[in-house]
Amino acid sequence: MAPRILTLANQKGGVGKTTTAINLATALAAIGERVLIVDLDPQGNASTGLGISRTDRALSAYDVLVGEASVPEAAIMTTVPNVAIVPSTMDLLGVELTIAGQADRAFKLRNAFKQLDELRINDQAVSYILIDCPPSLNLLTVNSLVAADAVLVPLQCEFFALEGLSQLLQTIEQIRSTLNPRLSIQGVVMTMFDKRNNLSEQVLHDVRSEMGDLVYETVIPRNVRLSEAPSYGKPALLYDLKCAGSQAYLRLATEVIRRERRLAAA
Ligand code: ADP
Ligand code: MG
Repeated sequence: MAPRILTLANQKGGVGKTTTAINLATALAAIGERVLIVDLDPQGNASTGLGISRTDRALSAYDVLVGEASVPEAAIMTTVPNVAIVPSTMDLLGVELTIAGQADRAFKLRNAFKQLDELRINDQAVSYILIDCPPSLNLLTVNSLVAADAVLVPLQCEFFALEGLSQLLQTIEQIRSTLNPRLSIQGVVMTMFDKRNNLSEQVLHDVRSEMGDLVYETVIPRNVRLSEAPSYGKPALLYDLKCAGSQAYLRLATEVIRRERRLAAA
């Protein structure tokens, strides 16, 4: 079976894309999936957060996008059981320039995913690919939307949460109607929810009334463990499994799988 490909997109920075990529991947792996993360952000926070040092990144998403390496060649195992990553390097900053003039510039990642057959994680095929996008609707994010089955949108529980969302939804709709008709929205995950702050509750309410069932039941709390873990090169689930943040990502993983089964059956 081909892996399900989910992209974590929101052109705003600091909303929890990378934190969600790392911890959702770990949670999915913990319940038996084989997960590949593709780090498309030149900042490389997902790679660093999973303990991949810069010197270990011989090949990166850049090499994959420009066709100089296959996904199996560029993928490396992380210390997280059953999670591999195609890391990012600063080279990604230049990828737009390299591919902008090419007719298939938006299809680079999709084409690269055609050669996944030899990629094995602990002797089994990859079942989920999570793409961590940069904070922009640039060609990298477009490549991820063209390659993906579905988008997962992290939204921060803050006053301007919905600002910019319509632009993202418009881009998704544009890609669906042209380059990738099968693209769907997996869901919207509310992050950094602070129960002591009335504003968080208000934002959650507003987003739920705007987006309805697209919003996951699971809400990711603001939790210091989630922000500490990357400095140890670990997902929060391996740093402190019992913390509220880790537990929320485990619940999110079961919701994501439930929705995937529904989408796949539809
Ligand atoms: P993005 O990838 O969208 O830019 P990040 O996942 O890097 O966002 O999150 C931005 C910052 O907020 C990081 O320092 C991260 O550790 C922190 N952070 C993310 N989610 C939470 C959370 N639920 N609770 C506390 N801190 C968080
Ligand atoms: Mg990020």
